[in-house]
Amino acid sequence: MNDCIFCKIIDGSIPSKKVYEDEQILAFHDVQPQAPVHVLFVPKEHICCADAITEENASVVAHIFTKIPGVAKSLGLVNGYRIINNCGDDGCQSVKHLHFHLLGGKQLRAEMD
Ligand code: AMP
Repeated sequence: MNDCIFCKIIDGSIPSKKVYEDEQILAFHDVQPQAPVHVLFVPKEHICCADAITEENASVVAHIFTKIPGVAKSLGLVNGYRIINNCGDDGCQSVKHLHFHLLGGKQLRAEMD
């Protein structure tokens, strides 16, 4: 996806502050943090959104979730955190490349909306 900003971050043509990378996924700090810690986890394969997760591509989602606890600990999130996925227009997804927000470092509000 030539016009996908997260694909450009993955291929290195747009810089990012990486916190974790392996052959399947990349995690980097959000440029507009909504909490003291705000990291985005993305699959390197371009998947547009949660609505496009299938039996064939779902293993990368599980892989992301196995890596989140270690990254969270490495960033000092010892008292919990929140994982968010925004999907589509009603979900306010602004970047159309599947990503999971890891938020923490303070007491987050209980409200989800
Ligand atoms: P969403 O609204 O769920 O699609 O989230 C997209 C997120 O990507 C927002 O929190 C943006 O601040 C973040 N974002 C956009 N461009 C960049 C970038 N170049 N580097 C890091 N984060 C970005």
